[in-house]
Amino acid sequence: MEKIQMTTPLVEMDGDEMTRVLWGWIKDKLILPFVDLKTEYYDLGLLHRNETEDQVTVDAANATRRLGVAVKCATITPNRQRMEEYPQLTQMWKSPNGTIRSILDGTVFRTPICIDAIKPVVKNWKKPITIARHAYGDVYRAVDLETEEPGTATLTFTGDSGQTQTVTVQRVEGPAIWQAAHNKADSIRSFARACFQYAIDTKEDLWFSTKDTIAKVYDGAFKRIFEEEYEGTYKSQFEALGLTYFYTLIDDAVARVIRSEGGYIWACKNYDGDVMSDMVSTAFGSLAMMTSVLVAPDGTTEFEAAHGTVTRHYYRYLKGETTSTNPMATIFAWSGALKKRGRLDGLTDLTAFGEALEQACFDTLNAGIMTKDLVSLVEPGFTATAVSSEAFLDAVAQRLAQKLA
Ligand code: NAP
Ligand code: MG
Repeated sequence: MEKIQMTTPLVEMDGDEMTRVLWGWIKDKLILPFVDLKTEYYDLGLLHRNETEDQVTVDAANATRRLGVAVKCATITPNRQRMEEYPQLTQMWKSPNGTIRSILDGTVFRTPICIDAIKPVVKNWKKPITIARHAYGDVYRAVDLETEEPGTATLTFTGDSGQTQTVTVQRVEGPAIWQAAHNKADSIRSFARACFQYAIDTKEDLWFSTKDTIAKVYDGAFKRIFEEEYEGTYKSQFEALGLTYFYTLIDDAVARVIRSEGGYIWACKNYDGDVMSDMVSTAFGSLAMMTSVLVAPDGTTEFEAAHGTVTRHYYRYLKGETTSTNPMATIFAWSGALKKRGRLDGLTDLTAFGEALEQACFDTLNAGIMTKDLVSLVEPGFTATAVSSEAFLDAVAQRLAQKLA
């Protein structure tokens, strides 16, 4: 069989632990036999980040800006315990995802992979719900203060011109706690653009929610900037695709989400997105079935799994045990990146390959062949067998080969 050709390379970011092992298997079994794969390879494994003083992460992010599409493996973000585990580390290197996100000025979209055999906890959800979380500011960059005596707090902004603006926060008669949060107009605008862009890309409606009835200035700015971007840039594309941009209050949004059948993108402020993405992903089934896509305002896109490096499985693998780690989200990172590359370069075969790969995964799961984490989640009456990661990948490869033959 002739291999499917590529023109522009993907940026490939390798990672750590069990997901690094899966990465190699996915390439060997599902990609390389069928695609004449072109990638620019960056090893974001912890030790290589350490050797390059994390320059490799910056290089990978810049390559993504240049080439437009990346696929990333999960990586270790070192903490104190990891510093002991890897004594050669010269620094507690920052989260690669954080570094890449800030270089791309990107927004993260998380979407569950849904299958018939696993029903969401919310029984009317028929289609995936994608959460877009604004990843800058608010309470995550806030400053806090605790005070003991009676007094008054004020908030003052001092401009570089020397001009000041001051408001009284509150007078208190006893001990109190205080918090000052901020956001930046540029960051909110980038967030809005990434959301509209991704909605157009995936052909799904976009919902956005804040609490602008209470936070009239703060959340009001979010609402206004989204409206400006929609009216000024995206409205005609939305209308041409039959898509809707829908703004509502966060509490109304929560009620509507629960009653909905899914199939849209829900853009959330930083804290709302943090909370809602955990709720939505758990209600849909499993973290192992969650994909994560980072989108820059200009449409540059990086695909990955939402889960981490699955450390516990890796240590069993190192002892020679066979593990049943779920490779679905990592496979879908690859298929998503190949489909996007195919669309950008006008390579219909490549896009069709990405779709066939996803369909082969669904066929395998629908045949009851799945990793251990999913077996416990299937509906009563559905017969499922737990297999190892490699056996699962082989079953997918067999179905994929049949589809492409
Ligand atoms: P994790 O790797 O997501 O794993 C947490 C647990 O969830 C696993 O022990 C496993 O449960 C289950 N799980 C997750 N993915 C699975 C899969 N594909 N198949 C089967 N089970 C799966 O999270 P973590 O243990 O908190 O973090 C491990 C490392 O990953 C950390 O060093 C962290 O820095 C890093 N991390 C990276 C990213 C990223 O690069 N995007 C994201 C998050 C975390 P059982 O053990 O019960 O089977
Ligand atoms: Mg959270």
